[in-house]
Amino acid sequence: MNDIFNVVILGSGCAGNTAAIYTARANLQPIVFEGHEPGGQLSITTDVENFPGFPEGIMGPELVQNMRKQAERFGAQYRQDRVLHADLSKRPFALELEHGDKVKARTLIIATGASARWLNLPNEQKLIGHGVSSCATCDGFFFRGKKIMVIGGGDSAMEEANFLSRFGSEVALVHRSESFRASKIMLDRVRKNSKISFLTNTVVRDIHDTDKGFVTGVTLHNVLTKETWQRDVDGFFVAIGHIPNTKPFAGQLDLDPDGYIISHGGARTNITGVFHAGDVQDRIYRQAITASGAGCMAAIEAERFLEAEGE
Ligand code: NDP
Repeated sequence: MNDIFNVVILGSGCAGNTAAIYTARANLQPIVFEGHEPGGQLSITTDVENFPGFPEGIMGPELVQNMRKQAERFGAQYRQDRVLHADLSKRPFALELEHGDKVKARTLIIATGASARWLNLPNEQKLIGHGVSSCATCDGFFFRGKKIMVIGGGDSAMEEANFLSRFGSEVALVHRSESFRASKIMLDRVRKNSKISFLTNTVVRDIHDTDKGFVTGVTLHNVLTKETWQRDVDGFFVAIGHIPNTKPFAGQLDLDPDGYIISHGGARTNITGVFHAGDVQDRIYRQAITASGAGCMAAIEAERFLEAEGE
């Protein structure tokens, strides 16, 4: 492939798919490079109950697959590939793909997302959607009256613990040291919450599950006392940060110290013709619906940009 496209969309989660629907309906024949996690974070969740329009809820993989079908119906193309190098110094932008192809983009929509950091425990990936989660807003509701554990010591962990205390019978916050990165106000709020208990200087060694693959408990280890013990847990929430997928754009796009794209208003980046959508820029909301909204914004901006350029 050595083609030039009106719109190249990087990433196939809610943001990328929505951008594809809008730009395809605008007859811009977009191409989507799916990235290393086709379907994005929804592809690894189970029930989605907060995406408007589905009163009975919908499975995450089905929702994202439907979005893709909708985009394809209007002519969007999808490729299983991802960008390794991008030259954004002049238009059209030049992209080198993992499978060796080179393509040019008149506009570029970056919807590559942010990957949740995981603990890399043996059972962790297998149990995602079956008790292990990285999103309290998405999955908290499934743990009403259950025992919940949250891992982390930053603002995300505090926010998730507080939120989850509305559902769980108890929430244990596990942090590997005694010093918290979380802001004082968030930490204080959690400390005042009678449903939340703290386990500091503690790490998780293992997650236990049933024959059917549902979380039942964990093995914990105190790094100071060297004590190791087991604890019953139904919901295991990992909140140890996210890594935005912006490596190919470092040094070209304005990124914040953690690598998130800095918005220059609307869906614009510092480079004219390059737009952002979804979690690659948004570290606050990180929801399917906000990512879809951002994909729509990026598509409209790309369309207007091309029209203004007369391309
Ligand atoms: P942070 O990087 O701030 O915190 C990550 C936490 O996870 C740290 O406590 C860290 O421990 C711990 N951690 C990292 N790796 C491991 C590991 N392998 N095992 C165990 N623990 C680990 O990430 P957050 O997602 O909490 O926050 C990111 C940014 O987003 C921050 O700037 C935050 O302020 C912001 N934010 C703001 C919110 C708000 O204002 N409402 C809500 C959520 C986030 P250690 O300290 O020991 O390294």
